[in-house]
Amino acid sequence: MSQQRIYYFDNNATTRVAPEVVAAMTPFFTELWGNPSSAYQFGNQVVKQLDEAREKVAALIGADPREIVFTSCGTEANNTALHSALVTQPGKRHVLTTAVEHSANIKYGEYLRRRGYEVTFLPVESDGSIDLHLLEKSIRPDTAIVSVMWANNETGALFPLEEIAAICRSRGVLYHTDAVQVPGKLKMDVDELGVDFLSLSAHKLHAPKGVGLLYCRYTAPFHSHLIGGGQEKGRRGGTENVPYIVGFGRAAELAMASIDDENTRIRGLRDRMERTILSTIPHTSRNGGRDARLPNTSNIAFDGCEAEGILLLLDRAGICVSSGSACTTGSMAPSHVLTAMGLTPARAKGSIRFSLGIYNTAEEVDYLLEKLPPIIARLRGAPADAGGA
Ligand SMILES: *Cc1c(COP(=O)(O)O)cnc(C)c1O
Repeated sequence: MSQQRIYYFDNNATTRVAPEVVAAMTPFFTELWGNPSSAYQFGNQVVKQLDEAREKVAALIGADPREIVFTSCGTEANNTALHSALVTQPGKRHVLTTAVEHSANIKYGEYLRRRGYEVTFLPVESDGSIDLHLLEKSIRPDTAIVSVMWANNETGALFPLEEIAAICRSRGVLYHTDAVQVPGKLKMDVDELGVDFLSLSAHKLHAPKGVGLLYCRYTAPFHSHLIGGGQEKGRRGGTENVPYIVGFGRAAELAMASIDDENTRIRGLRDRMERTILSTIPHTSRNGGRDARLPNTSNIAFDGCEAEGILLLLDRAGICVSSGSACTTGSMAPSHVLTAMGLTPARAKGSIRFSLGIYNTAEEVDYLLEKLPPIIARLRGAPADAGGA
């Protein structure tokens, strides 16, 4: 099979595993494959590398290594935080979150409702921002936890975490944040932020899929979601995924080093791409505010088009982007994030997310900007050579 060149603009969905990460992981498949819980030297010798990886991911977020619980993914970390808050505070049966969270929170919230808990999904403004007064008013005496993400995966919109954490602290309620989209893009410090729980997923920062973590502040009550062999100091049963955790540690080091590149070069590429699309293709608009957002993400509505058509034609040119729509029972449902921002279903269904990363080049952006206008024109019914008209 001939391999078409891939132009990858979907880094919020997953990222390429960095070669440095692959190199760090390899010995743990081939030679050092012992179980860290074993009593003999062969198992025990990997404990030190697990400890080192824990120190590296802790350094990424300014935590103590003892506050890190490795999980199998970001979804597990999010679910665990909510589960834990409800189990450790049995009298509290309310969860406060937002309408624009990742489905790992939205679907878990819906599940909790079916189990008899009360869940508030806070609305957002048209630019994707949150009303902090409404957030504060929505905290109740029986609120077990507030879970508000840091950066939105579809629009890149950033929530003011420090202010939310201050509100939660003054009301004596636990605060969890899904920070999966943030490493490598913004500086992270759990003490400056004042959060109790924070979720990460390794595959969003150039490490493999299938490993994540939950930061648990040492003062916050915690109850494990997976019960088993007492791993992670009894906080998460299941033999540690040693190679992936080691890879996660290496990726955390690299992420700290790539923040500058993301905020200068990548931000510049994103801004040029977005400006060019908005100014040369008619009937386009940015979804979400321009400023309080991740440097790599751009979400654009192409009126009069279906995102599925754009995806298909870009895919033929080797370009990977995504639409926020989810396929539910055979029909396309518009993105819950864009819908919560007040977009009409038609505009939401014609929206595309472009998310750049450290491996993108200016030449790749040029290629995208060359391929996109005729595709939009074609989908709008104009002849393909009519450009953006
Ligand atoms: C990708 C993502 C998740 C889920 O992480 P997995 O490791 O794939 O379970 C959760 N939240 C956000 C914001 C994400 O982008």
